[in-house]
Amino acid sequence: MNDYLTTILSINSRSSLLFILLVFISVLSNCDNASGQQEKKVVSTVDFAVDTIPTLNATKLELTKQYCLENYGVASYKLDSPKIVLVHFTVIPTLEETVEYFQKDSIESSRTNISKFSQMNVGIHYIVDKDGSIYKLVPDTVIARHAIGFNHVSIGIENIAKDAADLTPAQLESNVKLIAVLKERNPGLEYLVGHHEYNDISLAHYKLFLAVDESYKPHNKPDPGPKFIADLREKLKAEHNLTFMK
Ligand SMILES: [Zn+2]
Repeated sequence: MNDYLTTILSINSRSSLLFILLVFISVLSNCDNASGQQEKKVVSTVDFAVDTIPTLNATKLELTKQYCLENYGVASYKLDSPKIVLVHFTVIPTLEETVEYFQKDSIESSRTNISKFSQMNVGIHYIVDKDGSIYKLVPDTVIARHAIGFNHVSIGIENIAKDAADLTPAQLESNVKLIAVLKERNPGLEYLVGHHEYNDISLAHYKLFLAVDESYKPHNKPDPGPKFIADLREKLKAEHNLTFMK
C-alpha cells in the first residue's frame, strides 16, 4: 500500500472525509472552468467591438410592456430566451437618419398597417453600418419591435442599406462576428432568419409565430434578400462551425 492510500485510510472522521470530497469536487470543477475559459478564449479572438447608442427610456419601456401584453399576451418587456436572429436592411440610407428614426418613442401615424396594433415605435437591437461598425441600440434582454409575430423570441440586426445591392462585404463580416458572439451568449438561439423569409409558413421558425390579434400578420419584405442571408449562413458554418435552422 502506498503512502497516499495509507494517508487516506487513516482519516476516519466524517468531517475529514467531507473535506477531501470537497477538495476533489473543487479540482473537478476547476478542470471544467479551465476548459470553459479556453472555449471562451477562442470566441474572444474575434475582433468584435460594439458602440452603444441608447434608444430606450421609461416611456418606451412602458410602451413595450403594453405592446407585449396586447400582441403576445405577456405583461413584460423582457426578452428572456431568444431563439431567432432576424436580419434586415434599413432602406434608410444613413446611420444618422436610422438612429433618429429609432429614437422616437411612438410609431408614426402614417404607418397605419402597424400603428393600429400599438403606439410603440419600431426598434432594433443592433445596427451594422456600411463600414462594418456595429452599434447596440436595445439590450439583448429587452423586446424590440422589428418582426411581426416574432419579437417575443428574436434579436434583430439592421444593416444600413438602400437595397440588397447596397449591402457591403464589411457588413457581411460584421454580421458573421456579431451572430457568432450572440450565439455564444445565448445558446438557445437556434434560427437565423432573413426578414424576407419570416412569413414563410413552410420554414421551421414559423412555429414560434405568436399574435393575440389574428389580423396582425407578417407582410412580404425584401430585406436583406436571399444572397446576403445565404452568404451569412455559409460564412458562419465555414468560420465558426455554426449552423442555424431557418
Ligand atoms: Zn426588415
